[in-house]
Amino acid sequence: LPTRYGWIGLGAMGYPMAMQLRKKLPTHNTLSIYDVNARALQSFVEETKEFGDVSIAASAKEVTEGADCVFVMVPEGEHVKAVFLTPDTGVLAADIAGKLFIDCSTIDRASSLAVGEAIAAASSSQPAHFYDAPVSGGTIGAEKATLTIMVGIAPSSPHFPLLHALLSLMGSKIYPMGGPSLGLAAKLSNNYISSLIALATAEGMNLGMRLGLDAKVFSECLKTCTGSSWINSDMNPVPGVCPNAVTSKGYEGGFKVQLMKKDLGLAIKAAEQVDAKIVLGHTGLEAYTAASDDPRCRDRDARVVYRWLGGVEP
Ligand code: NAD
Repeated sequence: LPTRYGWIGLGAMGYPMAMQLRKKLPTHNTLSIYDVNARALQSFVEETKEFGDVSIAASAKEVTEGADCVFVMVPEGEHVKAVFLTPDTGVLAADIAGKLFIDCSTIDRASSLAVGEAIAAASSSQPAHFYDAPVSGGTIGAEKATLTIMVGIAPSSPHFPLLHALLSLMGSKIYPMGGPSLGLAAKLSNNYISSLIALATAEGMNLGMRLGLDAKVFSECLKTCTGSSWINSDMNPVPGVCPNAVTSKGYEGGFKVQLMKKDLGLAIKAAEQVDAKIVLGHTGLEAYTAASDDPRCRDRDARVVYRWLGGVEP
């Protein structure tokens, strides 16, 4: 494995993922970090003192200069492009020969492919490599290193064992999905499914309760009915049904409703590009957009659509 690492983007997901990386790497390995938010950098250095070297870089370029493997975890395609392509301070302003870049952000496939092509074009006789590797499992999965990670690489690629070893420091299931951008294809298709299951469960739970059902009893029953899902059993949108889930804690934390809106929008755009007929996604996007704009819901976990629907509070 490489001995010099870099991490760009220490937000809700990047911070705990980078924390897992630092804890599990040998102490003598180095980690250079960068985020536009200086507070996140300071707090990361404080929190990781005992686990080994962590140095704050002044730019993505500086991270790249001090690392052989760089992870990126920022919100959207425009941020990933800024990290890699900004003149003078971006990754590509550094010498990238032989380096490995792993982008875990959930972004549009076109931005990811464009960055991958720019990396390939800038490579010298010692090529650099760029892979999309978006994740599923939320902030809890990031904290516990139990993420599912979908990688834009062929299982037969000679690089896959290295990627598998590196990503296993942060995830428990690492899936090679094919070629470039196919990790994103899997992530966006997953979030298309999961956003609509959450909305359908929120509507169905509200319907059942308005008809007189007890939320907990109905949810328990659903687990062995055809309407069962991870959303019902582990992240039920109705407060109190899953006591340990963020849905029972005022929807604080978790996967922000604005991110769900972003991912559903990206999935719908991707569907249009390949002529995949979709019906439910458009209505779903309207609901997640309205919930994102609603001050009672904004910045809360996406399952807050239940509150937006006017769902019965048990
Ligand atoms: P976040 O907004 O909490 O964190 C993003 C971080 O990137 C911030 O610290 C921000 O300052 C930093 N950043 C933005 N632009 C930057 C730049 N140009 N250079 C350096 N740093 C920059 O977002 P998050 O929740 O950590 O999500 C990151 C990505 O992971 C998103 O694409 C999201 O869809 C995806 N994701 C999130 C979750 C979740 O539960 N939060 C789960 C799976 C996937």
